[in-house]
Amino acid sequence: MNVNGRCHCGNMAFRLDWPETTSEIPARACDCSFCTRHGGVWTSHPAATLEVSVGNHASVSRYRFGTGTATFHVCSRCGSVPFVTCEIDGGLYAVVNVNAFMDVDRSRLRPSAAHFGNEDIGSRLERRKRNWIRYVRIEAVATAEDTAVDDGHLDVNPPSDSTAGALDRSKAAFAS
Ligand SMILES: [Zn+2]
Repeated sequence: MNVNGRCHCGNMAFRLDWPETTSEIPARACDCSFCTRHGGVWTSHPAATLEVSVGNHASVSRYRFGTGTATFHVCSRCGSVPFVTCEIDGGLYAVVNVNAFMDVDRSRLRPSAAHFGNEDIGSRLERRKRNWIRYVRIEAVATAEDTAVDDGHLDVNPPSDSTAGALDRSKAAFAS
């Protein structure tokens, strides 16, 4: 099952390929100070794949706090936070915000409260390795910044040869 999502203005769009065997989609309302302020309700599945398209990287703020292990991708134009990434042992993991979903039957969402404040860093990273989306690709789309503001849908480009380069560049940005 494919789920499409995006930030409010469309600068960041994603396609989540959710395993067909799992009909329910967990929706974890995190109680950390950041998610409380941004309406962060997250889902992931280790067998899901996530492809993110970014129209203008300059309009994405990569925000970290606390342990600094998670990177919140905040649209600096519209303020939405459609996904979060975490780099562990050279791999990129992610969760997505169910509030960014555009075309999912919301009765499939299974809401729960999430509290991770007591975890140490080691167990936090181990949990993410087990539960977060393991296949994550972030690519730049070759559109002018303003064409991303549209009538409600941002087309996701098919993978191209430039994908690896785009991922390398975005990883370099995470490290900064
Ligand atoms: Zn936006």
